Amino acid sequence: MHLALSPVLSLALALAAPAPAPAAAELTRLLKAFLSGASRNDLAAHERFWAEDVIYTGSNGRRRGKAEILADVRSAPAPTPEAPATIFTAEDIRIQQYGSTAIVAFRLVGTTTKAGTVETANYLNTGTFLRRDGRWQVASWQATRMPAPTVEARKEMDGGTRTRLVLLGTKGGPRVDGGGRHNPSTLLIVNGTPYVVDCGYGTSYQMMAAGVPLTSLRYVFVTHHHADHDLELGLLPYNAWAAGLGTPVDAYGPPGTEAMLQTFFRYVQTDVDTRIVDEGRPDLRALASAHDVTAPGVVLRNADVTVTAARVRHPMIEHAYAYRFDARDRSVVISGDTAFSPELVELARGADVLVHEVLYVPGIDGLISRVPHATRLREHLLAAHTSPEDVGRVAAAAGVKTVVLSHFVPGDDPSITDEQWAEGVRRHFKGTVVVGRDLMEVP
Ligand SMILES: [Zn+2]
Ligand SMILES: [Zn+2]
Repeated sequence: MHLALSPVLSLALALAAPAPAPAAAELTRLLKAFLSGASRNDLAAHERFWAEDVIYTGSNGRRRGKAEILADVRSAPAPTPEAPATIFTAEDIRIQQYGSTAIVAFRLVGTTTKAGTVETANYLNTGTFLRRDGRWQVASWQATRMPAPTVEARKEMDGGTRTRLVLLGTKGGPRVDGGGRHNPSTLLIVNGTPYVVDCGYGTSYQMMAAGVPLTSLRYVFVTHHHADHDLELGLLPYNAWAAGLGTPVDAYGPPGTEAMLQTFFRYVQTDVDTRIVDEGRPDLRALASAHDVTAPGVVLRNADVTVTAARVRHPMIEHAYAYRFDARDRSVVISGDTAFSPELVELARGADVLVHEVLYVPGIDGLISRVPHATRLREHLLAAHTSPEDVGRVAAAAGVKTVVLSHFVPGDDPSITDEQWAEGVRRHFKGTVVVGRDLMEVP
């Protein structure tokens, strides 16, 4: 086909191209000055930037006028270690000018340094500036938060070789509360292959939310047989199979793991038998296998990673393991549930990252008031879990670089601040302390 554009089409394209913006430099300067002021909550910067009749639609879905914007700036609390200031910058600025009207589109990057880690959030902003009485001001504004890049997208960015650590669920205990944190699960991706450590209720959903296709499931590790750690032992491979899994899945866990998977297979026998015939699927029972880990030591060794288990102390559970993953670029230890355990210190020695469970002792009373019919819950919690202070002692004794708090008990009490969770750890550990969140990727 002849590719030259017809004169009419060429003209149409020329008209569609943005007109040169004579005020581009001035508007860019204005925007940058505003963002620098907004990072300091500077009222004057807001006064100058917004027109009296501005219509502002925020990324939270709230629509405000100038008076409300200014009132929010006035009432904003001063930055604290728990709620540090966010620095705003503009990237990919595009300006289209039509006489005394200009459309400014850019990506707003908010950078917050908190608990030793840097968090960024990206927003697509589009504003309409009007020049009235010789000065440019914003008459309308729209902000849309961009989703964080998925694990898959990040994989493409770095070629998929880096070992990634993503917290899928960070609330200790089997209770579901419908909001906030999900039940425990941690995901490692080593050379593109996912390793799921613990699979409490909701793990399948959280894996998808992290952008990892269920059909890529390959390895599952269970630390111990409390249901907040193994409820999806059968369900996770089943959900992967329902999504089209065609490759093996191997699960490792304390004695009983193999029998549990077989029990699950009986539970879904009718469904699986039917779908093999009805839909031509492979046999799930031939794809998914479980292996009992009867003693500490090396559990799995392949070309990418060596996985080693240590026996930790989690009464009344007899077989509770922590797992250490040694990949080429990174070593990561997952504590599982444990009280202070010297065995964990040994396992974690020199590791880059220790993901450790945590119990905030002053939060126990509130937790107990929310859980009826659990008369010995307090005794169990104190005997079987680790205070922030002890997490700090373990991390310091092991000499790890970073400790990541997860498996929060209580994990459903928003009155406990990140600083309260981290404070006790910092008393004994001088490295980086990360207060975990669901779907957080630990850099
Ligand atoms: Zn647990
Ligand atoms: Zn447990």
